[in-house]
Amino acid sequence: MGRLIASALLGLALACAPGYAQDDPLDARVRDIERLAVTAHWRESEAAIAQLESEAPGFSPAHRQRLEFVRLRNRALAGDQAGAMDGLDQLLQQDLPVELRLRVYNTAISVAGNLERWSQAFTWLSEALAYLPEAPGESAGMLSSASYLHTLVGETDKARDLAMRALEVVQPLNDPRALCLSLSDVALAEDHAGRFAEAETWRRRQIEACSRAGDPVFIANGKYGVGKMAARQGRHAEALDWSRQALAEFERAGFTAGVWSARLVMAESLIELDQDLDRADAMLDGTLAYYRGQQAHLAIAETEELRARLAERRGNLAAALAHFRAGAEAAAIAERDARERRLTYLQVEFDTRLKEQQIALLEAEKELAALQVTATQRRQWMLAAGMGGLVVIAVLLGLLLRHTLRERRRYRWRSEHDSLTGLYNYQHARRLGEQAFARARAEGRPFTAVVLDIDRFKSVNDRHGHAAGDEALRALGTWISEEVGDGGIAGRSGGDEFMILLDADAASAAELLQRLRARIEPIAVFGQTVRFSISSGVCQAGERADDLEQLVHEADQALYRAKHEGRDRVVHADEGGAARAPGGGLVVVGSGIDFGRHISERCLSEIREADVVLCLVDPFSLGMIRDFRPDAIHLGVHYADGKDRRDTYREMDAAIMEQVRTGKRVCAVFYGHPGVFADVPHGVVRKARAEGFPARMEPGISAEACLYADLGIDPGRYGVQSMEATQFMVYERIPDNAGLVLLWQVALAGDLTCTRFHAEPGGLQDLVDRLLRWYPPEHEVILYEAARLPIEAPRADHLRLRDLPRARYQEYTTLVIPPLRPAAREPGTVVDGRAERIA
Ligand code: GH3
Ligand code: MG
Repeated sequence: MGRLIASALLGLALACAPGYAQDDPLDARVRDIERLAVTAHWRESEAAIAQLESEAPGFSPAHRQRLEFVRLRNRALAGDQAGAMDGLDQLLQQDLPVELRLRVYNTAISVAGNLERWSQAFTWLSEALAYLPEAPGESAGMLSSASYLHTLVGETDKARDLAMRALEVVQPLNDPRALCLSLSDVALAEDHAGRFAEAETWRRRQIEACSRAGDPVFIANGKYGVGKMAARQGRHAEALDWSRQALAEFERAGFTAGVWSARLVMAESLIELDQDLDRADAMLDGTLAYYRGQQAHLAIAETEELRARLAERRGNLAAALAHFRAGAEAAAIAERDARERRLTYLQVEFDTRLKEQQIALLEAEKELAALQVTATQRRQWMLAAGMGGLVVIAVLLGLLLRHTLRERRRYRWRSEHDSLTGLYNYQHARRLGEQAFARARAEGRPFTAVVLDIDRFKSVNDRHGHAAGDEALRALGTWISEEVGDGGIAGRSGGDEFMILLDADAASAAELLQRLRARIEPIAVFGQTVRFSISSGVCQAGERADDLEQLVHEADQALYRAKHEGRDRVVHADEGGAARAPGGGLVVVGSGIDFGRHISERCLSEIREADVVLCLVDPFSLGMIRDFRPDAIHLGVHYADGKDRRDTYREMDAAIMEQVRTGKRVCAVFYGHPGVFADVPHGVVRKARAEGFPARMEPGISAEACLYADLGIDPGRYGVQSMEATQFMVYERIPDNAGLVLLWQVALAGDLTCTRFHAEPGGLQDLVDRLLRWYPPEHEVILYEAARLPIEAPRADHLRLRDLPRARYQEYTTLVIPPLRPAAREPGTVVDGRAERIA
């Protein structure tokens, strides 16, 4: 039965202590009314509301809602629980601030519980719980409601648990009123669990806390509770005392439900103490009427039970039985209500569980979605990282590739260019030239080669230094490059020689060279002024050459002519053609005895310009010729020890003629004078002419010419008899001992085999014996050898005729026999003094 008063108190208590706007005076009045509602009789707050409405009718909707809530609470306190419940239900339909809404829910749940409308109570509880996150400060109140409802459905342990949690929430708050309410919840839960002693203890703490809070209803409630618990423990006198106090205080506060509950405990105590039974009877009559009005079946059953006990005590067993029956009926209804309540709870619980499961499912889905999002994000991140990695690798590879390509380009450039001038090197210029030449020929366009060379560049180096020479080469390279531009291929052939290949005719090439020569000006290097000029050879394709090789060769030849004609000029390949036999021919030139000193410009030019050069000269001369004609053919290879010289000469003859017959321009170079003591040169000239080839001989400086210079003999003085030694002997020639006699190749004297190259003393003795016919043995003779190198001195050994066999000989040693006697003079001629002396 106690639950009625407790539940009513719970809901009513929670209607108070709100905190709203501070500065509004109307708001302050409303707040005062709310405070009054929990500290005084409900009529006082009711009167205050009426007064406020008459004085200030213009309430805001918020104020109206708060005052309406106080009014409904008062209605419940006054005993009209059903009316209060309808009013609270309507209030909850409105748009309420969440704190107020939760308080309304609490009160509504309590009232619904009082009226045993369980379904409604549990529905409201679950609705209220949904609002709790928006107003966590109301959690203690909600826990109280939950505890209360669990008490009603018999879930006492859970109810106690919830009440204890509410207590934990309010304990640190130092709010006596909240503590008072929470202690009341715990006490109620312990009461319903049958732990009366514990419940009594909590009730006592409640009285203390509620006294501090100044809440008369809850002080009375606490006292009622102590009384009830004392009764349950058989301490009825004590119970009577506490319930009396509670009754008085409930009456003072105007709390009807509390009044009837206290009366019930009082009546029970009087019956158990067997005191004032009439009063107890009257009390039970009123109580029964009240509970019947409220249709509170459990309370009716309790009241009927007490009435049966009272009738029994009075000995009226029939009445006692009737009351027992009425009590049992009411108890059955209460049982039924309890079952319904339990069922409703279980339904709500089931719904809640279902919802919880659904919520758990949703939570799990949410977590799953979050995990999927995380996994997706991770995948995206990995993908991005992977892409980033790929991008980094691609960038690195790109850089590497660029670096490699650059390096390749650099190496390629180096392999194709001359590092000093930046022009193409010889090989690459030739390569490009071959392609350009082929294109020009295919398209019938003119093509011209220019070979140019710096004049006397060695002396530039000698005078100004190698670095200055480099500067000159560089400057010339730049000028060439600028003049040629894209119109041709310009390269450095090596040293101070350059090559230009033009898609143009020779006239355009000449114009280009004119412009180039005009640009060549002295350059300043290290404070010195370096001057130089260039010589150039030009050849247009088709003039003389059909392929690039030949074209460049012709231009080269023209360059040599330019050099030999005085340098600093341009020579075209077709100039000076008159000096050359059309269609080839033979020229025989002499190298002189000392090539370096004796070779003539003319002979050099012939050697340079010839298509084929064949030489029979000493090794020094051959080396010098091959410096500029590396292709020169050495005829000396036909000599061999023991080989007949006539065979050798025939072979040489054949080798020369073979070249002549190809139609080429052939130059044969012979030691000394080609026409002196030389069968082959005369022979090939004759043969070539006989075969229709132009052939001529260019003279050279012979040993005889040297002899006159070295020995100081003028052949014109006494005359000269000059013959080959073997011929002298074989043909029994008579020497003119009045004049100079020269016997050539004296070492080979008498060798008719023509196979010997060394002197034979026997042969020489024969020669002496023969000469003794015209000369005395003491006659002084000279063995002469011309100097073949600038560093050599000529040999001029004077000795007696008879000593000749013991002398030293070379194959080319000449015997000079000065005159023995003066020639028979014609009257009036002058005799040279030196000739006299020799004689
Ligand atoms: P010529 O008029 O007959 O051409 O006379 P030259 O002195 O120019 O003779 P030649 O062309 O035969 O000599 C080329 C010289 O160029 C030989 C060498 O000392 C010089 N030379 C070659 N290459 C370089 C180089 O790279 N730098 C410098 N400073 N001199 C070089
Ligand atoms: Mg030069």
